[in-house]
Amino acid sequence: MTGQDRGKKQSGVTKRAALKSMGAAAAATGLALSPARAAQSAAAGDKPYDLIVIGGGNAGMPAAIFAGKRGARVLVIEAAGQLGGTLFLSSGQMSAAGTKLQKSKGIVDTPKLHYDDIMRISHNTADPELTKLATDGNGETFDWLTDNGLVVHPEHPELGTTHEPYSQKRYAWGLEGGISILKILNAQIKPEIDAGRVKVLTGTKAVELITDKGAVVGVVTDGDTKGRFMGRNVLLTAGGFASNAQMFQEIDHLKDYNDDSYPYSQGEGIKLGLSVGGYVRNGEKHAPLFGGILSDDDYPSPMLQIFRPWPPSRPPFEIFVNTAGQRFLQEDVASHDVYEESLLKQPNTVCWVVFDDAIFNAAPPIMSPKKWNKQEYAELFNARKFFHKADTLQELGKLAGFDGNGLVKTVAEYNAAQKSGKDKLGRTHMPLPIAKAPYYAIKLHSWKFMGFGGLAVDGQLRVIKQDGKPIPNLYAAGETLGSAVTMGKSHCGGMCVTPALTFGRLLGSKMLTFSA
Ligand SMILES: Cc1cc2nc3c(=O)[nH]c(=O)nc-3n(C[C@H](O)[C@H](O)[C@H](O)COP(=O)(O)OP(=O)(O)OC[C@H]3O[C@@H](n4cnc5c(N)ncnc54)[C@H](O)[C@@H]3O)c2cc1C
Repeated sequence: MTGQDRGKKQSGVTKRAALKSMGAAAAATGLALSPARAAQSAAAGDKPYDLIVIGGGNAGMPAAIFAGKRGARVLVIEAAGQLGGTLFLSSGQMSAAGTKLQKSKGIVDTPKLHYDDIMRISHNTADPELTKLATDGNGETFDWLTDNGLVVHPEHPELGTTHEPYSQKRYAWGLEGGISILKILNAQIKPEIDAGRVKVLTGTKAVELITDKGAVVGVVTDGDTKGRFMGRNVLLTAGGFASNAQMFQEIDHLKDYNDDSYPYSQGEGIKLGLSVGGYVRNGEKHAPLFGGILSDDDYPSPMLQIFRPWPPSRPPFEIFVNTAGQRFLQEDVASHDVYEESLLKQPNTVCWVVFDDAIFNAAPPIMSPKKWNKQEYAELFNARKFFHKADTLQELGKLAGFDGNGLVKTVAEYNAAQKSGKDKLGRTHMPLPIAKAPYYAIKLHSWKFMGFGGLAVDGQLRVIKQDGKPIPNLYAAGETLGSAVTMGKSHCGGMCVTPALTFGRLLGSKMLTFSA
């Protein structure tokens, strides 16, 4: 889930291309049921299933696989035409401690160290109980994937540098990103489907939960298979709301600028949970990513590029200013977290990167995933939205939409600091002044791949009401819980994909009870 690498994935894979590849992946594995087969499933829906899984992605697939392995009768309801969910788009970056891979490379690590790192990075804002559940289980999940054929990059695991680095090398992902994980899940679920223990209804949406005296006892579906299915346990793994701009604004309290998430991430699991008395928490913990250059201002818009510094590998030459034309952070700080927190405090969570012609020519490239040469880059200014160029700083502000007079003052201060070596924000890497026209500014928006708020559960992943009481038979996992449970108010590498897989595995393999 690193910014640059994730961006690389995003630029190469547009949403349309991803959806096309989803069809190919499903066809290759034969996991998309035809409407005829789906109709048979509906007819067989009278007897209660041991488990109904709503959403067959990162969390739902392992839940179904492990429940099937225990002999449970499982129904997976999947809105898309195929299983896989966000794995079709995600970089599939995972973090896990005490793995066989780590041991094979002599890396000493424990779930406790992983947990402590998450609490350090998140400033103790992650959920202690659920983060412990995840970090205790992630190692076994990762081993299960590698035992079943997952191959990660040869230099992995690593500390990670595109989110706050871990203190130990525990961050790894497959050669094909999320698809590498999906291939293992597809191979693992197939025998369960073939044996009749797991039934999958694709193209079918869960639209309502059926209740009896306050307990959830079934699901109403629409789409390719319209029906009512009864179940002893119902698991909400329908993902987050990252593709639902209204929910994003309502729950995470930020404007939804970018549109790069899985189209089915519409928050429907959360809505189903709310409909039977659940509640949402943690939206205030959203940590926006820094440096999004959007394709246009018709929000939410696909990302064009990412301007996201990691000073240890590319120290900054530029400055960042807000709508007042003022700097707001020490640009050479080696912390994504400081960048993200500083951006959160700026009006509309936008800022501009500003530089002059000398910096334009001297600074090493920083943007990803596209590799523009100098000429291609130069041609964007005043030709493409958000790229501005002017002969004076005032004019630059006017063109770009921030206070040009503020910038004049800011640049004068910065240039004095650059000369004296004493910066009021503590920056020490100031190789060049900003003094040579033309001047450049690029507008940077906050961006996101996931929602931070989500449905409240207890330590057993039971959906709870405001009074803390569980709603009988109803469970949730994955991004339906919101990313903040295992990342707090920060980005902790791999702590969405891995906990989703782990919670699904734990629910299917031991946390759920299947006796009649
Ligand atoms: C581009 C991108 C890159 C990312 N990279 C990383 C990364 O590298 N590492 C990391 O830790 N996190 C990453 N994340 C976040 C992570 O992928 C998600 O948080 C995680 O995959 C969510 O898993 P899930 O099972 O909850 O949801 P999903 O995998 O999205 O599965 C939910 C499923 O539910 C289905 N569904 C939705 N509504 C209904 C309904 N009403 N009825 C039936 N089915 C329904 C959907 O079609 C989908 O198949 C990334 C996210 C994105 C968008």
